[in-house]
Amino acid sequence: MNSLDKRLKKAAELIRGSKWLCAFTGAGISTESGIPDFRSPGGIWDRYRIVTYQEFISNHEARVGYWKMKHELFENLKHAKPNKAHLALAELERMGILKCLVTQNIDGLHQDAGNSPEIVVEIHGTNRKAICIDCNRTWPIEEIHSILEQVGYEPKCDHCGGFIKPATVSFGQAMPEKEMGRAIEAAHRSDVFLMIGSSLQVEPAASIPRLAYNSGANLIFINRTETPYDHMATVLFRESASEVMEGIINLIKKQ
Ligand code: NAD
Ligand code: ZN
Repeated sequence: MNSLDKRLKKAAELIRGSKWLCAFTGAGISTESGIPDFRSPGGIWDRYRIVTYQEFISNHEARVGYWKMKHELFENLKHAKPNKAHLALAELERMGILKCLVTQNIDGLHQDAGNSPEIVVEIHGTNRKAICIDCNRTWPIEEIHSILEQVGYEPKCDHCGGFIKPATVSFGQAMPEKEMGRAIEAAHRSDVFLMIGSSLQVEPAASIPRLAYNSGANLIFINRTETPYDHMATVLFRESASEVMEGIINLIKKQ
């Protein structure tokens, strides 16, 4: 199954014939929207130091550095638009085929593309909101970005004085239980599992495609570089996410 056409045809058949399709996305689906991933050259890890949750709560410099990084990245994020791969997933939901969309992304582009909040499961949280780490109060992220310079890049909750953090899951922070539960259930339930743009190196997120495989699902992987689980995939694409998803959607519409 080497030629792109054959692989597109096989993937389209699997997706169209699926009873319960689950998609699973990582940073690679959003690079074509201009948002860098973590591990590709020029990605976030080439440019910034990681601040763990423990550092954030215990160290003033870490908090300031973290918010400065988020502020710089926000300019980019604010103008990002969903690309053809995001739009294809929204179309699969409208067609009644896509039942659940588990994402490691924090950029909100799946909702912008038209996927309904009910089926999008954000296992690493979202950059669209900020949260007080003490009382869990939330704000739209724009509100916090607009005051960052005034508060020296260390915003505090006006209700309880706690530190405010983007509502994303940092390294060293516990995964959200409800979302992980939904993701695990979706992986078990799926008969076709479509992974787009993840290096599958971050646990426990990477365990989700493994669960789907062990529950008997056919796996379709779209990722430019190798992952540790490529051998589990029924159909494997190294081409770009938008090119492959556009090809798949066109075939499904024709079938
Ligand atoms: P990753 O950076 O580890 O891996 C991304 C993968 O996508 C790479 O293997 C790369 O080869 C592939 N890729 C890049 N562009 C592609 C394209 N156009 N088509 C096909 N494949 C492409 O990302 P990850 O596995 O999601 O893990 C990183 C973590 O960082 C995630 O947990 C996520 O929360 C966070 N993150 C999110 C965003 C975002 O929201 N857009 C951006 C950066 C990091
Ligand atoms: Zn608070």
